[in-house]
Amino acid sequence: MKTVYLDNNATTPIAPEVYEAMIPYLTGQYFNPSSMYGPATEVGDALKAAKRTIAHFLGVGNVTQILPTSCATESNNTAIYGAVRANPGRRHIITTSVEHPAVLEVCKDLQRQGYEVDFLPVDTHGTLDVRAFIRALRPDTLLVSIMHANNETGVIFPVDELARVTKETDQSILFHTDATQTAGKLPINLRGSFKNVDLLSFSGHKLHAPKGVGALFIRRGTPIRPYLIGGHQESGRRGGTENVAFIVGLARACELATEHRDGEDRLRGMRDRLESSLQESIPYLEVNGKGAPRLPNTSNVAVHYIEGEGMLYQLDEAGICASSGSACTSGSLEPSHVLKAMDVPFTAMHGSIRFSLSHYNDESDVDHVLDVFPRVVASLRKLSPYWDSETDRPTGKI
Ligand code: PLP
Repeated sequence: MKTVYLDNNATTPIAPEVYEAMIPYLTGQYFNPSSMYGPATEVGDALKAAKRTIAHFLGVGNVTQILPTSCATESNNTAIYGAVRANPGRRHIITTSVEHPAVLEVCKDLQRQGYEVDFLPVDTHGTLDVRAFIRALRPDTLLVSIMHANNETGVIFPVDELARVTKETDQSILFHTDATQTAGKLPINLRGSFKNVDLLSFSGHKLHAPKGVGALFIRRGTPIRPYLIGGHQESGRRGGTENVAFIVGLARACELATEHRDGEDRLRGMRDRLESSLQESIPYLEVNGKGAPRLPNTSNVAVHYIEGEGMLYQLDEAGICASSGSACTSGSLEPSHVLKAMDVPFTAMHGSIRFSLSHYNDESDVDHVLDVFPRVVASLRKLSPYWDSETDRPTGKI
């Protein structure tokens, strides 16, 4: 049976070109990039070249602003704890209620340590109120950490505007964004529209590089303490021998993402066809975040009166990989904190499914979902106590 992989916001397949680029550094070119002899300096040069490519991908020229990490979780932890430790005079942080746990849990941890944290709410479309954000800025605000796009719904936040008003209010407030879901999907220019962003995180495995590599952009002059303390690698900003092969792979993935940018319309076209056809064939189905600017590859559909787990199980049996909530919350019975924050009705909260595409998908994948999913929903609704299968409508009793 063919596998139709539609869970690219959880992770992506490694691009063959990325794999090819990594092989020399997993085999003959194994030298420590910090060592002083000839073959090692060549590896050190490859590391520098990779960082230059990553910097270029983000629109910046200076490679010292790129800190390779092991994943976006590490990038986010480094950005937030690093900023907090370097700025002991301030105690207030602003974030949102829909961040990935790699930011949310760090902020909750800081709250337990006595920091004041504002978790800004979103509306039913998943969007932020910019005026409420401006009101939240305070003279003692240390850091703002707001994601670029949401991993569950694909809703995009106006990071350029939020960073601009932050700096207009107070130049010394640090602005961090978790761009894990946008790097490779949307253009990012840290010298252009993102020029007020101080810290930006992303992860390789969301853009066809392997798991186990990520990066943190740290704008020159940003006060930040190292998070991983050890050797003098990365000018003392992160101890630990660099994972050269994976960083080279990440750089190649960044180049490919730039080459594939013109595929955005094709992705959006497939996503839109998926959504409109599902809405036509399945009653009581809504698209979470539809009223907001969204990533072109992400569709989070709320199917009323049934459970996400049951749908996932039956989709899996038909060879379709999708997810309910984020990869981090799937497997738990707790409804997604993102959908809760959006006030998704109770009847749909547990029945949301995320399909996320990549440029490796094609129209036949969409066709397969359109063939299978309406039948899955119909069969589960027949078993649902809240659904009257005779009349194809909800009983109204919850
Ligand atoms: N931030 C966002 C928005 C994500 O979607 C994810 C992963 O899903 C992460 C952070 C964590 O990424 P990693 O698995 O590379 O630590």
